[in-house]
Amino acid sequence: MKFLPQLFAHNREWAAQQKKSDPQFFERLCAIQRPEYLWIGCADSRVPANTIVGLAPGEVFVHRNVANIVRPDDPNCLSVLQYAVDVLGISHVIVCGHYGCGGVQNALGPAAQQPLEGWLTPLRSLSRMHALELAELSDDTDRWNRLCELNVIEQVRVLSGLPTVTDAWRRGQRLVIHGWVYALNDGLLHDLNVSRDGPE
Ligand SMILES: [Zn+2]
Repeated sequence: MKFLPQLFAHNREWAAQQKKSDPQFFERLCAIQRPEYLWIGCADSRVPANTIVGLAPGEVFVHRNVANIVRPDDPNCLSVLQYAVDVLGISHVIVCGHYGCGGVQNALGPAAQQPLEGWLTPLRSLSRMHALELAELSDDTDRWNRLCELNVIEQVRVLSGLPTVTDAWRRGQRLVIHGWVYALNDGLLHDLNVSRDGPE
């Protein structure tokens, strides 16, 4: 093994451990994928979806990008959503942002280089839209963290208007969209209480 042998060593160890504690584990995963949740989170290495909600492989379908943004013009995210809802029949979509998000912070400072700056355009608009509320906060960290929350709330709103979601609701499929924020400093999730289970 020429490159990254330690990762392959970890992998062999992990696979052996899984098999030891649950001999049918991999057979079961091969046979069926039936997760109940779609996780839309930030690509940040400190916010690993399965780990922080204690879910095993097979239990959560995951899409991550910089700053957990849902854009109606992003075929990647839309395809993940479509597959999760229409094929896997998941019943919960969780948008999970995190305090201290570098992507969100970018929207409060000077422009980044492309293509990152273009990707983060919706965040700049969002920060302008909430400029008054943000200006009232006492310091930059508070503004940054509030924008992390506003970003999650905005993505829940965007998701609620996407055809995959509105079609599912129209045909009576159970589908709840949630907005959460994860705190890096204590590892705890916060529910922003913006869950939606149907059109307004
Ligand atoms: Zn982030």
